Amino acid sequence: MDIVMTVDKSFCTYLLHFTDQTHYVGMTGNLPRRMRQHHGSQGARYVKRKLTQGYDFVVAQTWDNMTRSEAMKLEYKLKKRGRWHYRYCPICIEETINE
Ligand SMILES: [Zn+2]
Repeated sequence: MDIVMTVDKSFCTYLLHFTDQTHYVGMTGNLPRRMRQHHGSQGARYVKRKLTQGYDFVVAQTWDNMTRSEAMKLEYKLKKRGRWHYRYCPICIEETINE
């Protein structure tokens, strides 16, 4: 019997930038599906609340080609850092430069 070791690197960690300059970080194995969930009823509470308040979001950054545990570790690391988001968000960095 052959044992095939496959490493699934299809996971990514993503950073959402909201129009009120706040952020949300998450991880997924299927970003387009996750985005549909965020716009639907299965999204995270934080995202849903923002959308209800009239704020929209864009995917500002993704870290691709990770295993599930790598993506989870990065998500955890990013969430732990207080004001981490501004440094990792290309949209916010650009706005800082243009000021
Ligand atoms: Zn941002």
